[in-house]
Amino acid sequence: MSDCLFCKIAAGQISSDIVYSDEQVVAFKDINPQAPVHLLIIPRKHIPNVNSIEEDDRTLIGHIHHIAAKLAKEQGFADDGYRIVVNCGEQGGQTVMHLHFHLLGGRSLGWPPG
Ligand code: 5GP
Ligand code: ZN
Repeated sequence: MSDCLFCKIAAGQISSDIVYSDEQVVAFKDINPQAPVHLLIIPRKHIPNVNSIEEDDRTLIGHIHHIAAKLAKEQGFADDGYRIVVNCGEQGGQTVMHLHFHLLGGRSLGWPPG
């Protein structure tokens, strides 16, 4: 989508601190980190949010989780624990309408969320 912030980041049209990229996904540092490590993992495909995931996206969504675990290992907190968060819609706290998976680690995370 031409007017989507995360599509532009994935395409390299807006700069970001990219830590991983392949033909399907891009992972980059969140601009406003909520933990010592706060990455966003996004599909290159424009999917607005969880409500828009289709049957054909199953492999992609699985791949994103595999990459999340790989990044958690690389960042050194896989064994200590971490969180993958997907906000969906207004009440879910979603502010960017391109599906993204927050990967948060490096500190003890509270529960429940606000
Ligand atoms: P949401 O609230 O939609 O779940 O998460 C959106 C996230 O995107 C927020 O954590 C916010 O800090 C991050 N974000 C918003 N704009 C930018 C940007 O231009 N660059 C980067 N790296 N992160 C952004
Ligand atoms: Zn997009």
